[in-house]
Amino acid sequence: MNEHCVFCRIIAGEETVSIVYEDDAVVAFMDIQPASPGHVLVVSCEHHADLFDTPTDLALHCLEVAKQLGPGIREATGAAAVNLFAANGRAGGQDVEHFHLHLIPVQEDEHFELQLPRPGAPVPSRSQLDVMAARIGRAVQKRGEVGRRSRGGGAVSS
Ligand SMILES: [Zn+2]
Repeated sequence: MNEHCVFCRIIAGEETVSIVYEDDAVVAFMDIQPASPGHVLVVSCEHHADLFDTPTDLALHCLEVAKQLGPGIREATGAAAVNLFAANGRAGGQDVEHFHLHLIPVQEDEHFELQLPRPGAPVPSRSQLDVMAARIGRAVQKRGEVGRRSRGGGAVSS
């Protein structure tokens, strides 16, 4: 529990929210300033700054809960899509530094602000993409935290 963290205060029952789902590890509640009606936050009960700071099992459980809630959000709101979003770091728009997933319903004729690819985004050359892929691969390998997964889905430890 971090006294300065609004999500920790919510989880401790010190702030009131409209809860959609809760279990021992995760709570999901309505965003108080929704991007669209039905915008839900899935929050780990333990305080971790972002996805990369969160234990893998807990992060996977948050994703599992998000996956279970999504179709219900779609049904309850009549949305044509439900987007999943997580900001990791203030520069990316993370407003509360306590890991959370956004589930954001999008109606059929609505424009969702984050469109990928961004209109007019440049298309790098294959060699530029290869260089960046190799740079990221080396950085990941140096950190030594990733078990490789084969394309068949089985985990292969590296
Ligand atoms: Zn917190």
